[in-house]
Amino acid sequence: MEGTPVTVESVREVGPDTVALELETPAKFDALPGQFVLLRAAPEGEEIARHYTLSSSSVGDTFEITVGIDPDGDLSPWLAGLDGGETVHIDGPFGTITYEGDRDVVPIAGGPGIGPAVSIAEAAHEAGHEAVVIYQDDDPAHRERLEALETAGATVRVVDEDADAELADAIASHHEEGQLYAFGFDDFVTFVADAIDDAGGDADDALIENFG
Ligand SMILES: Cc1cc2nc3c(=O)[nH]c(=O)nc-3n(C[C@H](O)[C@H](O)[C@H](O)COP(=O)(O)OP(=O)(O)OC[C@H]3O[C@@H](n4cnc5c(N)ncnc54)[C@H](O)[C@@H]3O)c2cc1C
Repeated sequence: MEGTPVTVESVREVGPDTVALELETPAKFDALPGQFVLLRAAPEGEEIARHYTLSSSSVGDTFEITVGIDPDGDLSPWLAGLDGGETVHIDGPFGTITYEGDRDVVPIAGGPGIGPAVSIAEAAHEAGHEAVVIYQDDDPAHRERLEALETAGATVRVVDEDADAELADAIASHHEEGQLYAFGFDDFVTFVADAIDDAGGDADDALIENFG
């Protein structure tokens, strides 16, 4: 199998249908918040490769990805069922969407996009900058990290999945408060881009990662 073999150090539930995997960091691997890896594994003997975005604010001996479990998916349920100690293969990091600790941020997340969103907000705080997290999900994940961010002074707006008007309102209220990021599946990031433009912002200036 292509890619660097790494150990899955741990798998923990971080919300309904959502797990965080702590992966061993390969030699010479460095990544910024916002970047993603290609993860390969062979749950049933046949190789499957999927992209996952970093959800830790930095890379040390390990780094984290957050995986939303699609019950009909080929790889995400298998990843969620790991115990830790298994080997997967990764390539990367990839992606030009990064946070360099240089400005205030407004990460907007749908579903498992909360992983990179929370990591960028944490990295901003660690660098002495402000963060507003806007998150659309009926069953929020990473609640503890969101609460810690709020305690540290971040603004966190969580809206339900059917509350698109509220999502658009939150974007209109906060779109000028820092570098805009959006992480999530296609319908979500398309909605966010339109909402930014409707609010008088420019979606072309937002850093948008489409999960497909
Ligand atoms: C740049 C990038 C970053 C990403 N980052 C993240 C991240 O941080 N976290 C995260 O959770 N995900 C992320 N993703 C999405 C991730 O790569 C996977 O797509 C996701 O985990 C689903 O993979 P799966 O193998 O479980 O599901 P898949 O097997 O890919 O299936 C997905 C869905 O499609 C349906 N499907 C599959 N094949 C067909 C078909 N032929 N016809 C009709 N329906 C079909 C399945 O039933 C299932 O509901 C990212 C994607 C990209 C491109």
